[in-house]
Amino acid sequence: MVNLPNVFRELFRRSTPSPEQLSDIERRTYGPCSLCGEVGGHDRAQLGSIIVGESDASSLEMFEAAVRGRDWTTVASHQEWDGAADEVVYSVIRCPWSYQLCLVRLDSFASMDLDDQVTAREVLSESESKHLETQLALEWRRM
Ligand SMILES: [Zn+2]
Repeated sequence: MVNLPNVFRELFRRSTPSPEQLSDIERRTYGPCSLCGEVGGHDRAQLGSIIVGESDASSLEMFEAAVRGRDWTTVASHQEWDGAADEVVYSVIRCPWSYQLCLVRLDSFASMDLDDQVTAREVLSESESKHLETQLALEWRRM
């Protein structure tokens, strides 16, 4: 027997969220700012993302090495996404009260049962932040 309320819940869960809902999800996922401790009113720009698979651990290692080496153009050359796969996503968050950017690593899971999780945060120095912004044309999105 089909359980109708559950079917509807499932349908709504899969419907496209509104921009407000997306911002709300982002705020909850990324949590308070490492620089000022506040939630909301901050902008996020995605740097790069890579699909994480058992078969290809070396590409993740190279991606992480590019992040550590501040090789932002290499990081940005990876923009991988697959709804059926897990990804590692690097972003920077811009605090309205600082010239420093916060680098954030997110583990994004394909499974609906797992919430995306921030697995590393690092505040970049002012010169690192400036350097990043001159290297990449960042697309900022309000959270
Ligand atoms: Zn802040």
